[in-house]
Order: sequence, then C-alpha cells, then structure tokens
Amino acid sequence: MSLNIENRINQLREELRTHNYNYYVLDNATISDFEFDTKLKELEKLENENPQFFDANSPTQRVGGEVTKNFKTVTHKNRMYSLANSYSLEDLKDWETRIRKLVDDENIEYSCELKYDGASINLVYEKRILVRAETRGDGFQGDDVTTNVKTIKSIPLILKSDFVPNFEIRGEIILPLKGFNKMNAEKMEAGEDPYSNPRNTASGSLKMQDSAEVAKRPLDCLLYQIVADKLPFNTHFEALKEAKKAGFKVPNTIQVCKSIDEVFKFINSWEEKRHNLPYETDGIVIKVNSLQQQDELGFTAKTPRWAIAYKFKAEQVSTILNEITYQVGRTGAITPVANLKPVQLAGTIIKRASLHNADQIAKFDIRVGDTVYVEKGGEIIPKIVGVDLTKRPINSVPTVYITYCPDCNTELVRTEGDAKHYCPNFYGCPTQITGRIQHFISRKAMNIDGLGAETVELLFKEGLINNYADLYELEASQIIPLERMAEKSAENIILGIKASKKVPFEKVLFALGIRFVGETVAKKLAKHFKSIENLSKASFDELINVDEIGDRIAESVLEFFRNLVNIQLVERLKFYGVQLEIKESDLENTSNKLENKVFVVSGVFENFSRNELKKSIEDNGGKVSSSISKKTDYIIAGDKMGPSKKQKAENLDIPLIDEITYSKMIE
Ligand code: AMP
Ligand code: ZN
Repeated sequence: MSLNIENRINQLREELRTHNYNYYVLDNATISDFEFDTKLKELEKLENENPQFFDANSPTQRVGGEVTKNFKTVTHKNRMYSLANSYSLEDLKDWETRIRKLVDDENIEYSCELKYDGASINLVYEKRILVRAETRGDGFQGDDVTTNVKTIKSIPLILKSDFVPNFEIRGEIILPLKGFNKMNAEKMEAGEDPYSNPRNTASGSLKMQDSAEVAKRPLDCLLYQIVADKLPFNTHFEALKEAKKAGFKVPNTIQVCKSIDEVFKFINSWEEKRHNLPYETDGIVIKVNSLQQQDELGFTAKTPRWAIAYKFKAEQVSTILNEITYQVGRTGAITPVANLKPVQLAGTIIKRASLHNADQIAKFDIRVGDTVYVEKGGEIIPKIVGVDLTKRPINSVPTVYITYCPDCNTELVRTEGDAKHYCPNFYGCPTQITGRIQHFISRKAMNIDGLGAETVELLFKEGLINNYADLYELEASQIIPLERMAEKSAENIILGIKASKKVPFEKVLFALGIRFVGETVAKKLAKHFKSIENLSKASFDELINVDEIGDRIAESVLEFFRNLVNIQLVERLKFYGVQLEIKESDLENTSNKLENKVFVVSGVFENFSRNELKKSIEDNGGKVSSSISKKTDYIIAGDKMGPSKKQKAENLDIPLIDEITYSKMIE
C-alpha cells in the first residue's frame, strides 16, 4: 500500500512539474487550470496524510507559507559584478577598441541580450537541486531569499537534466507588465496608492516576510549568466542554451553577432520594438561570447571587461518645480533637492529630483514655479536638465541659495574648488552625527546586524549615543524602554555591536568616515600602515608615497588625526576591543615581496585559477595589469597564452615566467 502511495506521489509531482514548466517557462499550457488544481489538491492530501514522503522541492511547496523575519546575510561564492554602461554607438566602438587590445584573437563574437529590468538574483544549484537564492546586495554579500524565490513557478526546484554538477545561475526577477497592472488595479480598487513601478515592486517582493504573499505575485525570472569553477562549454550562448534545456527560462531574444556592426543593428532593431515586450527593458547587454576570451579580459574593480550595457535614450518629461529643499549629508555636504509636481516618467512616478549644487541651479536659473525638464538616465535619481522659460510665471523670483545649515543653523562654507557648500559644524550638526554613525554600522563598514538607520536616529534623539564610540557602551536595558523596541531586538543590537569588534582593521578604517577614504583607499592604507597608531603618525610625504594615495586623501587623513575629538574616539574604540591593527592571521600568505612590480597574467594555469593568481600577486604587494606595456615587469604565462601577446612581450623584452617560478618568488 505504502509503495503505491509513494508511487502516486512521485507520479503527481512529476506531472505537475512538467505542467508547471510548460505553462510558466514555455508559455504553453498543456492542461486546464481546473485539472491542475485537482491534481495539486490530490498531491497535497497525500503528502499531508503521509508526512514521511515530505519533499521540500515538491510542487506543493510553491505556495509558500514560511515566514522570514530577518533575512540571513550570505557571502556570494562568486562576486556579483555590475555592468559598465554606454549611451551611444561611439561608446560601444570605444569598448570594442579596448577589448581588441586585450584579446589575442581577430575574431570576437558578441552575445546580445535585452537588459531585463528587475532585481538581480543568484540561484545556487547543487546536484540538480536549487539550494539557495541570494539577492545581489553589495555584490559581495546579499540576502538569502530562498523561501520567497521558491514560490516563483518558472524557477526549477529540480533540474530536468544534469547540466553542470554545481553552479550558480544569475538572472533577473521581474514583474511582467500585465501582472503589474493587475496588481495595481486591485490596489486602487481597494482605495490604496498604486505601486510606482515593476522593478521596485519585484525587488520589494523578494524581501517580503510572508512567502505565501510572494507566491500570490505574478513574478517571473529570466536567466542570463552561469558561473561555475569550470564550465563544459566554449561560449556563453552555448551555456545559456544548455541551461534552457535544463529547465531555466532563457528568453529567445538573445542573438549572437559576429561584429560590432551587427551589434548596432541588433540595438536599433529593439529601439522601438522594446515597447511591445511583455516586460520592461532599459537597454541591451553585450557580452563577449567566447568563455576563453572572457577569461582573458577579466574584471575591473566593479565590472567585467567582457560585457557592457547599452542604455536606451533617457526619457524626458516636463513638470512644475514646487519647492527647493536642502539635504545635509554625513560629511556636511549640502544637496539641493527639487520637489516636483508628481509626474510619470519611464514607468515611475517622480516627485523629487537632485539639483546637485548651487552652480547647477545658477546655470539653468532654476526657480520655484518654473516648468522644468526632468530626465532619467542610467542613475536612479532623476535630474533636471533645463527650464521651459516660455512658461515662467511673471512674478517669479531668482533662487537664493541658503547660507545657513537647514539642520543646525550654522553658517555654510564653500571652499575653493568644491562644488558643494558644507556645514562646518561637524561635531554638532545632528544629521552629520547620525550620518556618521549610520555609515559606521553599514554593511561594508562594521556591518552591525540588527541596528538600522532609523534606530540610530532614535538612539541619538534619546541621548543614548552621540558618536560611534558610544555604541560600545550601550546596554540592552537602555534600549528596551524605547518606542517599538522589543527585548529580543534590543539584545540583537547589543550582540551585533559586540560582534563588530571582530571586524578587520581595513573595514574599521573605512567605518571611521574619514573624508575621501573609501573602501579601496582604506584597504590600501590598512595594508601599508598596518595599524591606526602608524597611520596617525604618518607624514604627508609618507602618505602620498602609498600607491594611489594623492594629496587630497593625504590632507584629509592628516586633518582627521589633527582633531582631538577623533583621537579620543579612536582611543575609546581601542579600549572597547575594536580591531585597530592588522591581526597576524590576516597577514598569512601576504608579504611585500612583489612591491612595485607590475604583472600581466595570461593563459590558463594548473595550480591557480586566474583570480587566485591575481589575488596572490596583490597580497604580496604586486600590481596586476591587464595589458602588456613598458611598465610591465613580468608576464606569468600559462597554457594557451596567445601568440600576439607573446610577440609583444618579446618586442618589449619583458620576461615570461611560469607559475612555478612565480610561486618561488613569493616563498
Ligand atoms: P546595473 O545595475 O545598471 O549596474 O546593471 C547591471 C545589472 O543588470 C545586473 O546586475 C543584472 O541584474 C542586470 N541585467 C539585466 N539583464 C541582464 C543581462 N542580460 N545580462 C547581464 N545583466 C543583466
Ligand atoms: Zn549643520
């Protein structure tokens, strides 16, 4: 009997899976809704009565039900890069010229795809099973949203074929226009405000706590990239084709182009046609098709060199400027903001636009009451690109830029060469104080779990913290009485703060919020000076001697340590046990042996992946460059190094070394 039941359960699962695939991936229904529901109900009943056959990947699990309060942070196995942008065909030509210099082959093919406008997702599969779904986050770490993503019917929970044993596949979670409009119609019927656009609604859906609610939304997932240690394919296109066979939804709008001219044709053909698509797209993504060439091209700090996005022309509308308000940033910089009469632009309702700075306002003579042109380009915040002077009201008055901080009423300053006005009340201006603490706790800095921007404001307002060092003196008993604060969340905050004492020095240095010391600079300084002690004693000359540290940064570092308030803050952090020097264990496998040496890595290696090799060079103080020039000191040549690179190396008399020789250099 039990064997029969198990058989029936498996049979139903298989059938439902196939129907799901036909309907959601192929858009081709092979069964009526009624029949589908009947089978699903039967399966549900059997599973309920026979819990021993539970399977987290059964089609019944698609309806959701699990509630997630806090999404777990996960570190991506492979970084999720963003894409370089281009806005014209010339930009693309330039890109082609750049990559031609780096690729050792006359023939470069391009895979052209639509740029699907939604929320990026990384799906992790092991042995045919979906094990995790991760948001992009900051590219290094994202949120684990598996329970929500499992409710999206076009994403296979189990693959139809073996494909690749362990891999990640990347795609975009989108909300097709039809479903989006339906959701909005229902919202408006209920007298609520409509959702502003499909993209934000899709990404918001991924972070909803109740997966049963997510299951109700008509989300879809379009896949565009496979990442694995080793892919058994020669081209990107082939990888996608095989992924499609394994059950993924890969749009068939992809086209392989043999030249950049063909790419132009592809782009032009979509300029108008894109408005007829069932979902939104804001551009075209062009990728070098050969995986070997992709590997040769590698990545810049933020984007792959082998891909580029082409953004369609920004759409423009005009609307009325109601008011100009001013925002104070964490560094005291003032940004004027245009408050607009709400207007629809590229699928979004726009209410605000950045005005950048006083010069920008003066340039267009922008005045309250004006009809202004608003444009949305690649960036998220729309901008004002002009004024319709024919519509200027008769009584209009020129804008007078503020001279006092809207927050603390201190007189603003503007130093020469700076585009922005600053509030100099660094240690007394509320927004600057909270802004610095918010920066301190942020993910890329101290990454303090459980503590958010609003809580920081609350703690500041209640007088519990005045600077980031104060965080380490907080006690749960002080937090619990605050508004909307439960015991559990108060304890989480304290735990998060405590855990941040383990955050490595380079991140602490970034967290301090020294002007111009971003993530990369902080890394460089930490590595070079090894401790806050050394850094605080460094002279201007010592600072600018560090690779990539210029006058502006050096001056800002000196300025920071000249201030007694900062010295005291740092002393207190030290006292609480925050990492203010590089730990011995962080130094393993690192040295200065390759200092001032520039390497080019070419070909395929036995003992290192290309990325490992590059990291090793950097860890030992060397620099990696992507193209051979007079400045190159060594070329580490692996298998399949291209002949023209070899030629170039010979012409410039640059030594070629193999990976074993390299390993000896750092021993
Ligand atoms: P951006 O957010 O403007 O840097 O653009 C990069 C993002 O575009 C990626 O993170 C993806 O989520 C998204 N994207 C959409 N369609 C594609 C595609 N066909 N190939 C690569 N990325 C895509
Ligand atoms: Zn101020």
